Amino acid sequence: MDEYINCFGCGSKSLNIDGETHEYMLSSTGCWIMFCEVLEREYSDFNYAKAHHYTVDAYTTQHVGNENDVRAINSVNIHLASLYMMFERNLDIIDAADFKMNFSQFYKGSGDLVWLEPPISFGNLTIYELWDNNNPELHFSLAEKWAKSVWNSWEKHHQTISRLANNFLNKK
Ligand SMILES: [Zn+2]
Repeated sequence: MDEYINCFGCGSKSLNIDGETHEYMLSSTGCWIMFCEVLEREYSDFNYAKAHHYTVDAYTTQHVGNENDVRAINSVNIHLASLYMMFERNLDIIDAADFKMNFSQFYKGSGDLVWLEPPISFGNLTIYELWDNNNPELHFSLAEKWAKSVWNSWEKHHQTISRLANNFLNKK
């Protein structure tokens, strides 16, 4: 059996193992496991922790799930909006949690968050590069590069996300 396969969600080199995955953020099992292991590092070590929102936003927007699942649709919109705020509006990464919570509350049940057809390619970085790196000094910059490259890959929806984020900022 091959040690690695490509994740059908993000294309990442991922561990070839069987098991459960996230309910609507669909991925290969190995990709999900690598994500969980990276989160464990971020929860247990301050040097890793500061990159947390980059990791979560990048991973979520590389695993779009099913277009009929409203949880998947909301999730992609919310995490893309967070990437927009961090990369285009200079939102500090530590404020991303509040932004996501308030943005999500604002649009809850509104019907304004819709399925966004994903790009053909999500860029050339994935969870694999983060998972494979054991140098805490490099973790943050790798996560930032990954998040930025995922945000760029969604270019055809940048206007939509910017409109949603600005509508929220103007009316909140
Ligand atoms: Zn994946």
